[in-house]
Amino acid sequence: DMHFLQQANYIIQKLKTAGYEAYIVGGAVRDFLLNREIHDIDIATSAPATEVKVLFPKTIDVAIAHGTVVVRHQGESFEVTSYRGNTLFEDLRLRDFTMNAMGLSRNGDMVDPFRGKDDINQRMIRCVENPSLRFQEDPLRMLRAIRFVSQLGFAIEDDTLEAIKMNGFLINHVAIERVSLELEKIWSGAYVKRSFGYLNETNLLEKLEALLPLRKALLDEDVATTLTKLTNRTEVWTFLLFISNLEDPEVFLENWKQPKKIIVEVASIIKRLPSILESGFTCEDLYYLGLDTSLRTERVRAALLHTIENPIEVEKGYRKLPIKDKKELDVRGDEIALLLTNDDPKSKIGQLITAIELAVVNQKVENTKSAIIKWLREEGLIDA
Ligand code: ATP
Ligand code: MG
Repeated sequence: DMHFLQQANYIIQKLKTAGYEAYIVGGAVRDFLLNREIHDIDIATSAPATEVKVLFPKTIDVAIAHGTVVVRHQGESFEVTSYRGNTLFEDLRLRDFTMNAMGLSRNGDMVDPFRGKDDINQRMIRCVENPSLRFQEDPLRMLRAIRFVSQLGFAIEDDTLEAIKMNGFLINHVAIERVSLELEKIWSGAYVKRSFGYLNETNLLEKLEALLPLRKALLDEDVATTLTKLTNRTEVWTFLLFISNLEDPEVFLENWKQPKKIIVEVASIIKRLPSILESGFTCEDLYYLGLDTSLRTERVRAALLHTIENPIEVEKGYRKLPIKDKKELDVRGDEIALLLTNDDPKSKIGQLITAIELAVVNQKVENTKSAIIKWLREEGLIDA
């Protein structure tokens, strides 16, 4: 981490030499004071983005309209943003919480006009200036407050908490993509139980219309405990949608603007989950889910049944499958075609392959050409 900060200092020094101010700001300063791992460094500067691009050889335009340029240095990325406002003070003043509104200079001096350090020492989340106004400017900040509870275990200061209760209804004005990013951080935080307490107390989730189908689950403290056992968003969505008995998980996740890949994966797990909970994984489950998704399913299964997960068993079962992919079948489509009559529609080839695939996976027939053709005849799937 010190190394990371030193690299940031190189960038700050270069900006200073060119006659500009520059400070590390935001989460990196907070996490530095908390001795937490720093995963990205934001730098605020008086230099305009165009100047930043001139000064550094390797830059990436991410949001140049907002004054943000990514500077690459020794394999690391630094987000360099021009002051919003004319000074560092004005820039810090536009930030959400006091703990996120500090600047760290090159020689280690803290610029801390809103006493963020005191709040960090008291483990307190407090809005910069008037909480109600700050939440009205950007209602996502209410959810961010609770997200930081889940990640840091801090408490929310009284006036800030009161303002969340008063302004909660505004949360529906926030783009769903922004909401879901914060929710996923809440669900994966170490102090998720504490954050559920705040979600309850502020009624914030009840106001979030898109989340109504999951409302009961999200008020349940046992659910919060279970969430700590899950490791990614596929698992979390699967778990929450399953216990909420959602009729159409796909439509729900589409409304939540989730990536297609996640939607397909969650839906495929939910479809197979009842029988997996009842009697474990079948060969068919392992084959159609694939190894990675099966392991995620196993984690959800264990969480739902309050048992220990057994990834080794799942992996063993998967390794023992006769085939891992349709391509491994010992017959090809053109070979099947030769067995058909002129009356058979072309689509029959695909249907037969699907039937063969299932039979081979379930070990009803050996994966050899002769055995497969014999089986097709016996089953009356092709003419003898
Ligand atoms: P993380 O460790 O999750 O990255 P972070 O504090 O860096 O936490 P970001 O969302 O990366 O959070 O934002 C970086 C900084 O930008 C914050 O520390 C805060 O100062 C400011 N910020 C981000 N979002 C908002 C917002 N909605 N309103 C005001 N300030 C914000
Ligand atoms: Mg950040």
